Amino acid sequence: MSDADVPPAMMDTQLNSWLLFAHAERHHGEVEIVSRLVSGEVHRYTYADYSRRTRQLMNALDGLGLAAGAPVATLAWNHHRHLECYFGIPCTGRLLHTLNVRLSPAELAYIIQDAGDRAILADPDMLPLLEQVRDHGGLAGVEHIVVLAADVPDTSLDGVVAYEQLLAVQPTDYAERDIPESTPLGLCYTSGTTGRPKGVVYTHRSTFLHALAVTSAAAMSIGPSDCTLPLVPMFHAMAWGMPQAALAVGAKQVFAAGPLDAAAVARLIADEAVTVGAGVPTVWLGLADALAALESRPVALRHLICGGAQPPRTLIERYLREFGVPVLQAWGMTETSPLASVAWPRHAHRDLPEAEVLTRARTQAGLPIPGVDLSVRDENGVEVPADGETMGDLHVRGPWVAASYFKNAEPDKFDGGWFRTGDVAISATNGYFVIADRTKDLIKSGGEWISSVDMEAQIMAMPQVFEAAVIAMPDPRWQERPLAAIVPNPGETVTLEQVHAHLAAQGWVRWQFPDRIEVIEQVPRTSVGKFDKKALRARFAAPPAPATAT
Ligand code: ADP
Repeated sequence: MSDADVPPAMMDTQLNSWLLFAHAERHHGEVEIVSRLVSGEVHRYTYADYSRRTRQLMNALDGLGLAAGAPVATLAWNHHRHLECYFGIPCTGRLLHTLNVRLSPAELAYIIQDAGDRAILADPDMLPLLEQVRDHGGLAGVEHIVVLAADVPDTSLDGVVAYEQLLAVQPTDYAERDIPESTPLGLCYTSGTTGRPKGVVYTHRSTFLHALAVTSAAAMSIGPSDCTLPLVPMFHAMAWGMPQAALAVGAKQVFAAGPLDAAAVARLIADEAVTVGAGVPTVWLGLADALAALESRPVALRHLICGGAQPPRTLIERYLREFGVPVLQAWGMTETSPLASVAWPRHAHRDLPEAEVLTRARTQAGLPIPGVDLSVRDENGVEVPADGETMGDLHVRGPWVAASYFKNAEPDKFDGGWFRTGDVAISATNGYFVIADRTKDLIKSGGEWISSVDMEAQIMAMPQVFEAAVIAMPDPRWQERPLAAIVPNPGETVTLEQVHAHLAAQGWVRWQFPDRIEVIEQVPRTSVGKFDKKALRARFAAPPAPATAT
């Protein structure tokens, strides 16, 4: 037999959205999807209802006459209609572009124009924002605006149609499409903590593989017995892949629309028996009091995935002690779909003393999930030793890691099959790694490096401190020196001397101490809830204030 006659050993199934969507439709029809809407109303339906409506959406999109592959944007909170868009848009072969509702009109205008969006599906409370986007020239080329509601509210935007009216007249059947797995599925812009937003394109294949990886017990550990609650917005890196992962395995899904309403979300967690949640540290911090105020402990909750920034130790401690819930640190970026690692303890760690468990949980960004490869390198691109001490630039590769940016922006970040993350990391001998800082946030003092993240964590451990952010200030002698912006707990004061004494007690040495502290009311946040160090740097670029403040 010649090679040509040998049949393929395995089926060449294309890894696309249909494979997940049709599977869920066929096998998980009775499972619930529950959304708490901005109005406070709780909407509830099943995967069977979901798939009928999503097929109606697919027909509606075809009816709008949008070209194959056209970018279709969403500007929406977390809810069932957004989930319909998550599959409805890609299953027609079009590109799902999730817009961040917290961006300014000018930023949104830039991103919509850069992406070339042809249609926007927006929540009703987003129409005033879209009116401003229009005034910034952001709607040029946008042919359709669909409001994700039953009716069109008052607006000065032209030709807006209501989602429910659009869907109501559509058939619930839609012929499956053979979408090649390399077809673009989604477009997300990085939130631009550092520099101008850049687009990242996810393919059907990368999204499928990422969804399966997310379900795994090495990642979010989601199965049919689970009920998921992504508190990370669906407009931010696809809610970390949690909705697709939950759909893949037929997990019950719960969504909470709108800005965080802690009491309502805590109720939802209890009433719907949520088992796994995902969100940034600020969200879990904001929710803790409301969870504590529930009449009983949220016993169904198994674990929380906490990523996007290093969680403070107090947060991990509180969830573990008060609610018996482990907070698992995860690391990733928009460019990595985003999930790349989760800090699950190993079997050998099961009997560690609590103090060590907490330290590991705070510091370790995790073990890479299957398929993801990490490499920590020096400035010459040579891998540094995994000794738990040496810092280097974190590089990453894998089937759901970007190989380029949309429109080939910043090609120098993609280097010999690796993506240069811009994070500074330390690898340990045991396979875990630690995010020491972002390259741009690391403080270079007299040729030595100081980690702002480490210093923040230490200062936040002071009893009188609620929050702290450390930034680099230009310095004529040392190049850069640390400044700590501190939010004290109510009624407390903090002095520079106290900070120094605390750091000294933790083993820090004099040259690493901050030269200056600033007491502030709150740490500014980016659109996704991370410390906005760009804003802090701009605020404190002025000459130093007196060293001691209250
Ligand atoms: P942006 O770059 O706008 O913040 P991303 O959401 O893509 O948008 O953020 C990715 C960045 O978030 C990473 O490069 C890293 O600096 C930070 N990050 C993510 N997870 C962690 C973590 N567990 N610890 C520290 N930093 C993290």
